[in-house]
Amino acid sequence: MEQEQIFEEIEEPYRPNHYEREQAQFSKAYETKLPDSLALYVYGRLQGHYHFRQRLDFHGYRQSGRCRNYEIVLSHQPSVGILAHEIAHALHRMKYRGVEKKHHTKKFLRLMHRVLDYYWAHEEEYKAAYDAQVQRSTETLKARIEREKNQAAYQRTPEFKLQKLQAQRKRWETKLKRAQTAIKRLNRRIGI
Ligand SMILES: [Zn+2]
Repeated sequence: MEQEQIFEEIEEPYRPNHYEREQAQFSKAYETKLPDSLALYVYGRLQGHYHFRQRLDFHGYRQSGRCRNYEIVLSHQPSVGILAHEIAHALHRMKYRGVEKKHHTKKFLRLMHRVLDYYWAHEEEYKAAYDAQVQRSTETLKARIEREKNQAAYQRTPEFKLQKLQAQRKRWETKLKRAQTAIKRLNRRIGI
């Protein structure tokens, strides 16, 4: 198994023991995959709770992740385990910057544990809120399509066409009045 590529870390060389322990300890989390849009939603909720600053990006399809100062990159359809692992890196940096030089420490593992506990406690709530959000945006989209359809249908009616012609006629009338006024004024100056 190409573990090194499964967890790409930029600051620390691969340490097999850590990952094996972690995968065994959090097997449920590593087996639970999230669709990108749900992962993004969950990330936003966890960010709201923990206040780490990294934005989330997706790259590649092999389960992997990395954490930089400004971003966390996860593979598409990331597992809950990888999501929590990278967020734990962000929290570890916030909490132990300059104190711990290594990244996969016991303190790191405790943070990951905490993130996962928090996630499992809120999983149902997050999923329900996400579904509601999707539902809302679907309804908004449907309403917009309906509105545009009605608008297009209205524009094909004789009433609408008549209104348009009347509006055109009114614009020409205005131009005519302006021209008449201008001619009158010139006539006065010429002395006709
Ligand atoms: Zn790591």
